[in-house]
Order: sequence, then structure tokens, then C-alpha cells
Amino acid sequence: MPAEWVDFKSIKGKVSMETVLSHYDVRLRRVGANEFRGKCPLPIHSSTSSNDSFSVSFTRNAWSCQSASCIAARSGRVGGNVFDFVAEMERCSIREAALHLQHSLTENQTPRATSRNEESVAHAPENRPLSFTLHNIDHQHPYVASRGLSEQTARYFGVGYYDGNGFLRGRVVIPIHNEQGELVAYSGRAIAQTKPKYRLPAGFRKSHLLFNLHRALQEGNRTLILVEGFFDTFKLHEAGHHNVAALMGSKLSDRQADLIATYFDRVILMLDADPAGKAATSAAATALSSILAVQIVELTSGTQPDQLASEEINQLLAGFAHDVPTPDR
Ligand SMILES: [Zn+2]
Repeated sequence: MPAEWVDFKSIKGKVSMETVLSHYDVRLRRVGANEFRGKCPLPIHSSTSSNDSFSVSFTRNAWSCQSASCIAARSGRVGGNVFDFVAEMERCSIREAALHLQHSLTENQTPRATSRNEESVAHAPENRPLSFTLHNIDHQHPYVASRGLSEQTARYFGVGYYDGNGFLRGRVVIPIHNEQGELVAYSGRAIAQTKPKYRLPAGFRKSHLLFNLHRALQEGNRTLILVEGFFDTFKLHEAGHHNVAALMGSKLSDRQADLIATYFDRVILMLDADPAGKAATSAAATALSSILAVQIVELTSGTQPDQLASEEINQLLAGFAHDVPTPDR
């Protein structure tokens, strides 16, 4: 069953901390024009000594709890937005919290007209799992090595030269899965200057998924490293960073932003340092920072992750504490 579409941005714009607090009957005292303070209502709050650790800003539409018990239970996070609050109150994921708010919104309001963009996203069919797999893929093909991939990495990702029949013949194929790990497409990379550089099945919607998300999810890491392409993903994996997924382009779609927000608390953007990649980084940072923590890796101008050696990748990521898996909420 396709996952229900969640419009984080729109929900956030409509639901105030004030509404959420009154829904849970949380009473606080006013300490400023739009600032309130009082006893922390979160179920994870285990300290009995802190009676005044919880504060809310209606201006910023945000909350925080300064109690060590809450901060520890939230892996170092002190505050959050309406989604975080509902997720903690309901002991559910951010996505479930957003759905919860979305449903209570639609119950209490007449549905608003959806824009054309939202409509097309909501009604566009999902990528169906394939009913076949390709055989006789050559993981040792010189092209694979020429891109700096070990045979082991090529085997791990199922990448290799395909000499069979069909539209992928004579290309290096890359299996693409949905977040459940079902194979939904193969992309075919030209090994010479042949156009197009990548071939994808007609009707395949790359904006509906993130390449390698199903493997990144297995890491249990709440941070995702987001790159543009397949080969960026392979290189980061080889360098030991397995919590990586790719846009398969430079544009972050609303659906991809939704996927990231569903499964992660933080995203590290490591897009190409060319003009398109830089524009994409700033657009993605804007879109994602209202939902989760965003960090940006500064690459040398003109470079992209797939051109870097493992040591260089590790150096760039050294300042980002992203390899510590956080416990389930
Ligand atoms: Zn607390």
C-alpha cells in the first residue's frame, strides 16, 4: 500500500504550539510577551526535581525542555517544533505525528483547494516492484574499475555491465529499490560518450524515492548523508559511510523531503560543488531546515563526491558527528 502523503510544510504553517498545548491540556505561565514556562508534560521526562524546565515560544512556534532527563532521552536534543512535541507525547515517529496533525486538521476544517503541484504528487502512481531481475551482470567490467569502484562494492550494489537484450544492453546497470527494499527499476549508465548518459524505464518516477534509502535505513542511524548520484553513493559507502542516499539528480522533490523527514532527524547535504549543485544545496537546505536539522559539507568548487578518494571523503565528514546511531524514540 502506498504511504500516505504528508505535507509537513503546510501542517507546520497551520498548527501552532498554542493549539497543540491546548489539545494536550498543558497549562503554562506567561513569562514574556509570547514566552511561556512550566512543568514538562512529556512522558520521557523522568526528573521529579525540575518543575520549571519546559518553555515554549509562540513567536518561534517552538518548545524546549532544559531537564537533563529529557535531553538524555532525546539523545542530546533540547527542543523542537510541533511535530517533535506530538511525536514525544504520542511516542510515535515524526511522520506519524505529522499524519496525526494532518488528520485532525482535515476533520476540523473544510479541505482547501490543492495546488496543481500537490495534486500531481498525490495522484501520481507509485513505482511498481519489477517482476524480473537481470542476470549475467559483469561486476568486473573495466568501466566499473575506471570509476574507482572495487569489485566488492559493485557486487554489493549489484552494479555491472549488462550484455543481454533490451534497452539496457551494453550499459552498466544499477538496480534501484524503494524504501522497503523492493527492486523497482534499473538505471543504465552509458560506458562511452553515448547519449543519454543514463537510461531509465519509461514511467519511472525518480522523484518518488531516494537511491539506497533501504540500505541507509538498515544502519539505524538518525542522520542521512544526501548526495546527488549513484556513484557518489558508491564512493561514500566505500569510505565507510553507509547512511547515504542519492537524489538521482540535483533537485529535491517534495516526496523526497517527506521521505527524509520520515526516517531521519538530521541530514548532511553533500551535493556537487558545481553551479547546479550549489543552487540545489541551498534549495534543499531551505526546504528541509523547517523539518529537521541540516548540515552542509563544503566541497572544493567544481568537485563532486564521486571524484574523491576515501581519505578525502573522511576528512570532509570528520567534523560531522553522524556515525553515532541514536536509540529509537
Ligand atoms: Zn522534560
